[in-house]
Amino acid sequence: MSSSRPMSAHFDSDKLSSPLAGKVAAAARLLADIADAHAPAVFANSLGAEDMVLTDLILRGGLAIEIFSLDSGRLPQETHALMQDIRRHYGLRLKLFYPRHDLIEEYTANHGINAFFDSVELRRACCQVRKVEPLRRALAGKRAWITGMRAQQAPSREALPLRQFDATNGLMKFNPLVEWSEQDVWAYLRGTGVPYNALHDRGYPSIGCAPCTRAIAAGEDLRAGRWWWESADTKECGLHRSPLVTLGTSTQANIDEGDVKARSTGRSQSADTKECGLHRIPVSVRTTLPENADESTLAAALRSA
Ligand code: SF4
Repeated sequence: MSSSRPMSAHFDSDKLSSPLAGKVAAAARLLADIADAHAPAVFANSLGAEDMVLTDLILRGGLAIEIFSLDSGRLPQETHALMQDIRRHYGLRLKLFYPRHDLIEEYTANHGINAFFDSVELRRACCQVRKVEPLRRALAGKRAWITGMRAQQAPSREALPLRQFDATNGLMKFNPLVEWSEQDVWAYLRGTGVPYNALHDRGYPSIGCAPCTRAIAAGEDLRAGRWWWESADTKECGLHRSPLVTLGTSTQANIDEGDVKARSTGRSQSADTKECGLHRIPVSVRTTLPENADESTLAAALRSA
């Protein structure tokens, strides 16, 4: 179902439970802090249910955070329909990043149009061309990016922190909904009339490219429908694979912890690797940074860790 109701300027917190209203307020504060302390900041909107919550919070707050999506060229029609719904509902001209045509042509010439079914390596190579490379361009020159990832979405995301330093792309990464449950997300969406992807009502809790996403059965892992032909420990697309520094648990966007857990990459097919490459959760090492360390200091610390 998607909505085209005009956005209310006022948030009706009476429709939300008290604990959820608290989470909403904390997420809204964090987003405002990010906009202030890490400009230019961007939100990578994957158009999933969580990302519609963040879209609503950013636009409702009038925050200076650019919202973009990656159009891999293989998205479901329902996801494109949601893009139009967002435009109607919010008047937002969603910025889209597409794959480089030369890389797509090279991949399909060498391997075939659906080669991602043939091996994990070819699947990851497809994600690299269609998602990871466009993401790099989308993040170039930014100081922070925001995702809708939640810790409860998959075993590979259990250790997901609220904020990290993404050393590959050289900027901060924030996950404001990390502690939200699936019930929280849907209570927000239904309570506010925010548009969402019609596939969610057909058994798709997690939605990616059309050929690589299917509905799940009751009791299955929320991401079981992604790359379902692979073993569970390889299921991530590469968008979140990068060395990351976890920055404590504070909900403030400013970096003020002296004790920082730096995390390094790992490519073995353990639970760690169940990301498409955009969201890999790496192994941690520990380092110490001065208070108020900026991005360049964090990058240097990570390189030397
Ligand atoms: S999800 Fe599938 S079609 Fe989309 S980029 Fe990855 S392998 Fe390619």
